[in-house]
Amino acid sequence: MIADRQKPHCPRVTIDLTKLKANATRIIRACRRHGIEVTGVAKGVASHPAVVSALVEAGIASLGDSRLANLKRIRTLDLGVETVLLRLPQPSMAAAVVELADVSLNSEAVTLQALDRAAAAAGKVHGVILMVDVGDLREGAMPGDVAELARVAEQLPRIMVRGVGTNLACYGGVKPDRTHMTLLLEARDRVADVLGYEPSLVSGGNSANWLLMESGRMPVGINHLRLGEAILLGTEATEGRLISGMAVDIFRLDAEVIEVKIKPTVPQGEIGKDSFGDTPTFADRGERLRAIVAVGRQDVVPTGLVPTLPGVEIIGASSDHMILDVHAAKKAPQVGEILSFTVTGYSALLALFTSTYAAKTSHG
Ligand SMILES: *Cc1c(COP(=O)(O)O)cnc(C)c1O
Repeated sequence: MIADRQKPHCPRVTIDLTKLKANATRIIRACRRHGIEVTGVAKGVASHPAVVSALVEAGIASLGDSRLANLKRIRTLDLGVETVLLRLPQPSMAAAVVELADVSLNSEAVTLQALDRAAAAAGKVHGVILMVDVGDLREGAMPGDVAELARVAEQLPRIMVRGVGTNLACYGGVKPDRTHMTLLLEARDRVADVLGYEPSLVSGGNSANWLLMESGRMPVGINHLRLGEAILLGTEATEGRLISGMAVDIFRLDAEVIEVKIKPTVPQGEIGKDSFGDTPTFADRGERLRAIVAVGRQDVVPTGLVPTLPGVEIIGASSDHMILDVHAAKKAPQVGEILSFTVTGYSALLALFTSTYAAKTSHG
């Protein structure tokens, strides 16, 4: 299996768009059954054009990303969808935010004021979701302070409060539960008191909210989620569970073998720190056949990969080399051969789509 000259060079990520669309369709339907609308989040793939186009084909009408550069990529495709900036805006970038995002998530009064000025200058009205910190301790106003934030927003003529939102399971790893969602609903009520109307969106969180929803325990009133990992990888992070009925092999990494040799399993000499500052340990398994593929930690997080060929095991990686134990493979890989890996980890996906060294291609 020598590299096909028609295909982009390796390392190369291949996206199965048919499977991606099926995942998105299933997620949208499941959410709809629970009265929940979805913003599709493609930041794990830097809002790659083929991915976001497939999401829109599957029925996603709102796309979110945390980076303005990625929202710009989405806007360039002219897909006719709403764009949502997921990371709190940098005040210095207010003009770009109102240009590239229809909605942004916010927790700071000064930022709302900067967005209002930028929206006025652009002749626009900018939508905001007021973020409430219900326990994960990343972004959001504390529940007792959200009314004050709403009061600021209400005074700003170019700011339209579209809803309230929260984000869990990111910094604190807190699993979303009914108590958190109830705090969010209380925040919505406080905001409604200030505005004199009920904001339409109550955005309960990210893919970590999946189990709560699917088990039917999501409180009534939570009507929006921002979902990336669930769609892209078919998993939810809090318990690392696969979501039933979802494809978990949408992204495949191909890498070329550059060395195949029998070597001992324990390095020779005193073990100091490796190239990433960790002190490795080794179990002696005798002499084993190993291969090196031309990809490394500069492109990918090796723990988020699963070799597709039985008998292949990833045993380590430095910046540019990934080392495999191929002793148990039925047929020994050859130098120049391409080995494939399913991308199962979010960090691995993020790194691959950020790496300018890894080519991206899609089919289906
Ligand atoms: C990344 C992000 C999401 C999506 O997270 P997934 O775990 O990929 O679903 C949602 N909301 C915010 C604020 C984010 O930063």
